[in-house]
Amino acid sequence: MSRKKVLVLGGNFAGLTAALTVKHGLHGDVDVTVVSSSDDFLFTPSLIWVPFGKRIRRDITFKVGPTFEEHQVDFVHAEATAIDPVARRVETAAGPQDYNYLVVATGYRNRFDVIPGLGQGGNAHTITTMEDALHAGEGWRRFIDRDEPGDIVIGATQGAGCFGAAYEFLFNTSYQLKKAGLKDKVKLTYVSAEPFLGHFGIGGLPHGESLLGMFLKKEKIHAVLDTAMDHVDEGRLVLADGRTIDFGYAMIVPPFSGQEVVRKVEAISDDNGFVKVRDTYQSEAYDDLYAVGVAAAVEVPWTTATPVGIPKTGFPSEQQAHTAAVNIAAQVRGEEPAAHKAFGDIPAVCVMDAGNNGVIILADKMLPPRKHGVLIPGPQSHVMKLGFERYFLWKMKHGQVRLP
Ligand SMILES: Cc1cc2nc3c(=O)[nH]c(=O)nc-3n(C[C@H](O)[C@H](O)[C@H](O)COP(=O)(O)OP(=O)(O)OC[C@H]3O[C@@H](n4cnc5c(N)ncnc54)[C@H](O)[C@@H]3O)c2cc1C
Repeated sequence: MSRKKVLVLGGNFAGLTAALTVKHGLHGDVDVTVVSSSDDFLFTPSLIWVPFGKRIRRDITFKVGPTFEEHQVDFVHAEATAIDPVARRVETAAGPQDYNYLVVATGYRNRFDVIPGLGQGGNAHTITTMEDALHAGEGWRRFIDRDEPGDIVIGATQGAGCFGAAYEFLFNTSYQLKKAGLKDKVKLTYVSAEPFLGHFGIGGLPHGESLLGMFLKKEKIHAVLDTAMDHVDEGRLVLADGRTIDFGYAMIVPPFSGQEVVRKVEAISDDNGFVKVRDTYQSEAYDDLYAVGVAAAVEVPWTTATPVGIPKTGFPSEQQAHTAAVNIAAQVRGEEPAAHKAFGDIPAVCVMDAGNNGVIILADKMLPPRKHGVLIPGPQSHVMKLGFERYFLWKMKHGQVRLP
């Protein structure tokens, strides 16, 4: 039997985990190549700290090339531009790559077109990529240096799913305002598509709404919920119902979509450019094409007055990557893929930072119905997030993807 080749597109949470797990799972008896448009691993959860200067790029990134080399995985730093699932070939900026098994782990793009006034040259910042977060930091420094800074709006648009990051940035902003002596001068407003506080895009957790309510009250933060946004003018957010909120600084999280390279392949993609998958993480259309992490489509299991997305966080991205890798290893050995793990059944594990405080979020399943769900508030959450950041970057840099 000729050696099989697994091609992985994307080298962050999901791609790095899938590539190394399949290589280790087959004890090296497989060729694995990763093609990624970034040669950095980026620990996205720490982007919330970049605008305040608490983290710089090198604190939360590392070069993936040496990690892959150490584990005998080929790495190509290039963008994948076209996927032909019939010919089993991917075009990249560095030439074509053939495969026996493909793993799409190309993550997310900001959908700034959700409302006018977002994105580059727009009127509100965002923090969902390193470049966005650095730009949000330039805006933050201008804001706190002003004699009359104005108010702050932090929010998530209709269709957004990354509510955790919006909450973390909200509470970190409140903490930074206190440190700058501006807390009494600046009104802080949270604007969200969520039907209630602490919905998080996962339907909420027991006591979550009251806990978040207490946090907001303590920090004197005003909330506008269950609302769509219409557009952002310079210094003014206009809601869909015509209400307006003026600001001197705004950070708004948009919805995410998949990458163009996926969207172009109608046979595998949904309307948002995510790959439609089974619970084996094989695509619905092709047994040898997998998708994991943010690139894998998840259906929103409820309808809300204002549309909300689902947060596709790091823990499920790793779990999906492990499931796909086990199934690819089975296929390489001539067996049927036997590992199943539906997104909704993966446990929810998250730490929400609030500057010098925070909340640990644990639930037996990402999506309801659930048996258990708990939110544990307290300063230990902040310490945990700091420790987790160091541990996770160490784990990924050394390719220890089997560790929790
Ligand atoms: C601000 C923020 C805070 C977050 N906080 C948390 C948190 O606290 N906890 C948590 O669990 N999750 C958090 N998340 C979610 C977490 O970032 C995602 O779950 C994780 O990034 C998913 O990993 P991924 O590998 O699927 O996608 P990504 O991290 O998006 O990686 C995709 C990779 O694919 C590459 N790529 C893209 N297009 C192409 C192409 N055409 N060709 C080749 N390569 C390509 C990219 O360069 C990138 O390396 C947060 C997200 C954000 C934005």
